[in-house]
This record gives sequence, structure tokens and C-alpha cells, in this order.
Amino acid sequence: MSINAFKHNIPDKTFAKLNTEGEFTRLAVSPGIINKHYTPLQFQKIAEVIGENGAIKYSASYSILLSVPTIEVPRMRQELEEAGLYIAQQGHIVSMKACDFCDGDKMEAAMITEELYERLEGTEVPKRLRVNMNGCASACYNAVYDEIGLVYQKDSFDVYLGAVPMGRHAQAGELFAKKVPVQFIEQLLQAIIAGYQAYARQDEPFHKYYHRTKSADYWERLIQ
Ligand code: SF4
Repeated sequence: MSINAFKHNIPDKTFAKLNTEGEFTRLAVSPGIINKHYTPLQFQKIAEVIGENGAIKYSASYSILLSVPTIEVPRMRQELEEAGLYIAQQGHIVSMKACDFCDGDKMEAAMITEELYERLEGTEVPKRLRVNMNGCASACYNAVYDEIGLVYQKDSFDVYLGAVPMGRHAQAGELFAKKVPVQFIEQLLQAIIAGYQAYARQDEPFHKYYHRTKSADYWERLIQ
């Protein structure tokens, strides 16, 4: 068997190419923030919705990217959501990610993850800000490689900030706060996000903002 992935499946419907033929939109679809298991019916629905016109691509962000005709987006969204699929919001917002809590076997941090999702997801910020929640110290979903990484351990979180997720200077985040009790984590995240909204330059990514400002007293006061 060849490892040449393009041998039998030539990507002739890239997003760029589709947009030369009409107006297409990308939908990032997954079974949920925590759940990573698709049902066969959900896969069938994705295939049915895409049909002959669109394209399906696996992505590095725990989701499948669907390229669909923009004019069809409302109907397709509805059908995908009715099949129990989650469609990520786009734009310069706070976007939550999470591990799958060992397929649901280690759910201690699931409730606070859902609460944080309800409160933070979609908050407008200068540049898309990924908050990645991992449910134990293994951090196997690479929380420390997203701009805000949360690693749960025994009713508390270690908080990592400032990762550079990609590019020539890619690097893990720095441990900013250790053992933040669950009951204080939302307050801390809200304060970090408020600082980012207030003090970042226009379109400044969070990691650049953090590394530019991290010696300011402001950050010290957040964890006192
Ligand atoms: S980070 Fe921990 S809880 Fe989450 S999937 Fe990995 S091993 Fe399981």
C-alpha cells in the first residue's frame, strides 16, 4: 500500500478552487466540544449534505471541514445540527476545545468545561483565541500548545499562556498559574480575556499580546 495519499483521492475540490466556481463557505463540524465519536448516521448525513457539489476535509482542529455553497448554508446547518453535529462559530472570538475525557471515562472536569463553554465561547476578542481544556495531567490533547491551556488535576487547573501554535516560532505555553481552584477558574479566564480586549493592539494574536505585556504588574495581580 502506498503512503501517497493523493494517488487515489486527488483533491480537485480545494476551497480555493471551489470559490473560483461560485461562493463557498467552510463549516467546521464535529460531534461536540468533548465527544470525538461520530455515528454512522452522522457520517451519512455529512455525505448527503455535501452531495456532488461540496468537499470534505479532515482538519488539525478536531473537526471536519465542509466546503458548501454559501447560499445553502442555513439549510445545511439545520440538517447537520438536527443530526446532533456541532458547528463551530467562526471569527475573532473565544473558541473552546477539549479532550474527550478518555472517551467519557474521566469526566471530573466535564461540568466545568460545559460551564466555561456557556460563558466564554463566542466572546469577541481582537483575534481568535483558543482555550484548550484537558482533563488530566497527561494533557494528551496538547492543551499547552493552544493560546490558553487548562490542565485539570484534583479540583484545580494549571493554566498555561502564550503558546505559539504554529509557524517558525511555534512553542508551548508558559505555566502562568498552578492549582487554580475550579471555583475561581472562570473569574481568572474572564480577567485574562478582559485584559486582552482592553490592551491588545488591533488584530494582535493573544500570544503576541501576552509576551509583549507579561512583565506588567497587571498579570501579577491576576493571581494574587
Ligand atoms: S488529557 Fe487526560 S482525561 Fe483527557 S483524554 Fe487525555 S488522558 Fe484522558
